[in-house]
Amino acid sequence: MWSSLTSFLSAIAFSKMSYSQLTDAFARGNEYLRVVQSYALEPGMVDIENSLWGYYTRTLQSDQIKICTWIGNNISQVNAQLEEYLQACHECFHPQERHHIKIFGAPLAQSFGIDGLCNILSKPIIILIDVGRIAPEDWLSLVAHEYAHAHVGNAGHNQQFADVLHHLCLGLNLEPPTDDEMKIELKLRSWPYCRSTQNPLAFWMGEM
Ligand SMILES: [Zn+2]
Repeated sequence: MWSSLTSFLSAIAFSKMSYSQLTDAFARGNEYLRVVQSYALEPGMVDIENSLWGYYTRTLQSDQIKICTWIGNNISQVNAQLEEYLQACHECFHPQERHHIKIFGAPLAQSFGIDGLCNILSKPIIILIDVGRIAPEDWLSLVAHEYAHAHVGNAGHNQQFADVLHHLCLGLNLEPPTDDEMKIELKLRSWPYCRSTQNPLAFWMGEM
């Protein structure tokens, strides 16, 4: 999918990194994206897309290579942070109540318009978070939202989801929904509130 590395590499021959360091990072990033695609509800959900005036297009090939290379070099730190937040969510429940959940950062296709997703059908349950779409201060909030889906084992925003999310918010020191808000599905869908970034791909290209 992300091929033709040579032209990009010759263009950045001035870079301090060696050719082999760059190709290794690109290959790792490319492979990582392939693997997380297989974790999504459908593979197309993990993709690098640009949005311009409401139209979605594939990114320039040079940007795709930049993103894969950045992922190859940096995704382990991103995932370590997400794992820490996942553990904080686990801490809100007794060990015997905790489900087997794995979490990964991934660029989600912008045409889906989602910041994160929870694949409750996979074993273990998979949470994917597009860390490029929301401010880092709000990553925990998004992890808590997806964790609530994983814990309930349901993609909907029903009363059971609301109860679990409320419990998580109290435990994680996030603002819990009020009794009235807990009855409104539309409110719960984007609870807790997360600030969106201007350009989701900027993060994935290491420009933030
Ligand atoms: Zn949700």
